[in-house]
Amino acid sequence: MSIEDNLVRIRAEIDQACQAAGRDPGEVRLLPVSKTHPVAAIRQAASAGCRWFAENRPQELAAKAAELSGLGLHWVMIGHLQRNKARLVAEFADSFHGLDSLQLAADLDRRLAVAGRELEVLVQVNSSDEPTKSGLRPEQVPAFMAGLGEFGRLRVTGLMTIAANTTDRESVIACFELMRDLQAGLRADPVPGQRYDELSMGMSGDFVEAIAHGATIVRIGTAIFGTRSAPPLG
Ligand SMILES: *Cc1c(COP(=O)(O)O)cnc(C)c1O
Repeated sequence: MSIEDNLVRIRAEIDQACQAAGRDPGEVRLLPVSKTHPVAAIRQAASAGCRWFAENRPQELAAKAAELSGLGLHWVMIGHLQRNKARLVAEFADSFHGLDSLQLAADLDRRLAVAGRELEVLVQVNSSDEPTKSGLRPEQVPAFMAGLGEFGRLRVTGLMTIAANTTDRESVIACFELMRDLQAGLRADPVPGQRYDELSMGMSGDFVEAIAHGATIVRIGTAIFGTRSAPPLG
C-alpha cells in the first residue's frame, strides 16, 4: 500500500468512527506522525493533501522543517521535550502536544519572544499511571493550567495523552474517559485566555476508541508511513 492509499483508508476509518460515535467528521483531525521517516515520505503525504506533520525529536523536526520550508507545512512537536531543546521547538514548531513542566513553559515563552512567535500547547496527561510515561497526573492539571496563565506566547488549546500500552481495550478506554472528564472539569472553570477544545489522543492502534471518547486530533504514524526501523523515543 502506498502512503496515499493508507491516507485514504485511515480517513475513511476516521469518518466511520465518527459516524458510529454520532460525531461530525469535521471535528476530528488526522495528524500524520512522520518521525524516523524520510522527507520523501512527507512529500508524498503532502501531495495527498496533508499540511501538518508531527515529530518527537526536536532536531529531526527542525531539519525536516528547514528542508521542506517551501511546501508551506506546519510542524507539531509531540511527547517529552527536554528544556535544552526548547529553542528548536520555539523556532520551528507551530504546536506542541506534550507540555508538562512550568520550567519548560518558561523556557519556551522566552525563546518564543526572541523569535517573535507564538506556540499552541496541549498539556500532556499521564492517563494510564504508567511510571515510564511523561505527563502530569490528572489531579495536577488544574493548578498547572493556572500556572501557565503568565506565559503570553503559549496558547493553551487542550490536552494530550498516550493511552495505556496494552491490548486490554477496557484499560485503553479508561484512559480516554479520564481525559474527557478532565476536559469537562477544565471547561467548567477555565483559566482566562485558555481553551480546552482539543483532545489529542489515539494512535494507529487505538484511534477508533479515542474518537468514540472525544478525540479531536488523532496522531497516526505506522498506519500511514509503515513500521519504523528505529524504536520510537519518548
Ligand atoms: C510515535 C507516536 C505516535 C504515533 O504512533 P503510531 O503507533 O505509529 O501511530 C503518536 N503519538 C506519539 C506521542 C508518538 O511518539
